[in-house]
Amino acid sequence: MELIFEISKPGRAAADIPASDVPTVNLENIIGSQYLREELELPEVAEIDLVRHYTNLSRRNFGVDLGFYPLGSCTMKYNPKINENTAALPGFTGLHPYAGAEFIQGNLQLMAEMQKYLSNIFGMAEFTLQPAAGAHGELTGVMMIKKYFEKKGQKRHMILIPDAAHGTNPASSALCGFEVRELKSNSEGGVDIEHLESLMTEDVAALMLTNPNTLGLFERNIEKVAAIVHGKGGLLYGDGANANAFLGKARPGDLGFDVIQLNLHKTFSTPHGGGGPGSGPVGVGQALVDFLPVPRVVKRDNQYAWSEDFPDSIGRVRAFYGNFSVIVKAYTYIRSLGAEGLKRATEMAVLNANYIKERLKTYFDLPYDRICMHECVFSGKKQVAESGVHTTDIAKCLIDYGYHPPTIYFPLIVPEAMMIEPTETESRETLDTFCDAMIAIAKEVRKNPEGVKNAPVTTPVSRLDEVLAARRPDVCWKES
Ligand SMILES: *Cc1c(COP(=O)(O)O)cnc(C)c1O
Repeated sequence: MELIFEISKPGRAAADIPASDVPTVNLENIIGSQYLREELELPEVAEIDLVRHYTNLSRRNFGVDLGFYPLGSCTMKYNPKINENTAALPGFTGLHPYAGAEFIQGNLQLMAEMQKYLSNIFGMAEFTLQPAAGAHGELTGVMMIKKYFEKKGQKRHMILIPDAAHGTNPASSALCGFEVRELKSNSEGGVDIEHLESLMTEDVAALMLTNPNTLGLFERNIEKVAAIVHGKGGLLYGDGANANAFLGKARPGDLGFDVIQLNLHKTFSTPHGGGGPGSGPVGVGQALVDFLPVPRVVKRDNQYAWSEDFPDSIGRVRAFYGNFSVIVKAYTYIRSLGAEGLKRATEMAVLNANYIKERLKTYFDLPYDRICMHECVFSGKKQVAESGVHTTDIAKCLIDYGYHPPTIYFPLIVPEAMMIEPTETESRETLDTFCDAMIAIAKEVRKNPEGVKNAPVTTPVSRLDEVLAARRPDVCWKES
């Protein structure tokens, strides 16, 4: 496909600009020449060429509206169109971020209700909606933990993180000045209790735990884990990116978590990918409420208002009020499903993941063979041993079958990992055709390993040198 610069023809335009009816001035005399360029190389194209160019480009993209997208840990569920309709209401989109509270009562009400819903669903005392994504929520949570211990006059400089954790967990901790200690997983894929007991001292501020973890497994000893951490005066942080697995089933607050961040763009069906906006609300138990970011929505005399009057707050973590449109979409999702609907979504997500696990486990190595939650993790080590075909080859081959590959090589503790998360929004037929494709690939690996290593062959570009593509991306166009 040609670049838009290559279809450019001098003089073509997508819009007619009327002749100027004001006098021409020489900008150079006003602002000086250093800001002015002789030539501005903008493409010149007609409207129809413009429309076709970008429509064709969009058809090269892959999204959840196009096909099955089982990217583990990312919860690529269908984004109901009603979410978009409500987020597009003029009262939301036309809002000026500096509008006074008296003009935005409805918006503030929505935020206050959202905080209440999340507090109820997750069993926390309060939520902030400010953070812009999951990792930003982690940072916010760790900042609050830090302030909590400062306020108590305790010097704790360590955070424990299991070896299965998402890379953002140690990054958020390190960014707040904590030293990170790795906690081992046991043979069942849970926390190694003995290792936790040996690491948990009064130097440890918190354990950052993802539950269910990135193996898709629920921590069987969660109450014991919480007791050990609390026993030494530490806090239990929950990475809630996997909350799709327990909506209406378990509440982190009841399990002993003191802080939890959510990913509205995963669990609550708002679109994500390609760096689009996210939202990472953070919920806290009573002990941490005073440290929540400001401004906070408060209700006084039946009026909603902003308040900065929380002296122990960590302050602001984002401009304005978070990614408001994402919050509207997630709010719509919660309201349209209701309590029963959310619970059922979780049940279907878990059922779908277990269905895939059972159908594929005779073809691919399953390192932890127990009931999984919303995702299942296979290893491609059988295929490596038999035919020298790696997980990355299998993933590329899936593209030729029309699927987005699962997450691969994560979690790090599983060699040749393939982490499959179907989500609740897929039908049995979709799961079956996906499993059929995986099984066909497993057979192809034996018959024709070189063919699998050559995939994909149906895409605009074939196998890329990924290291080179990342280090020296070729994003330039050549002038003819
Ligand atoms: C996605 C994810 C994160 C990070 O969330 P972002 O919104 O991408 O910043 C953190 N932890 C886990 C387990 C995740 O799956």
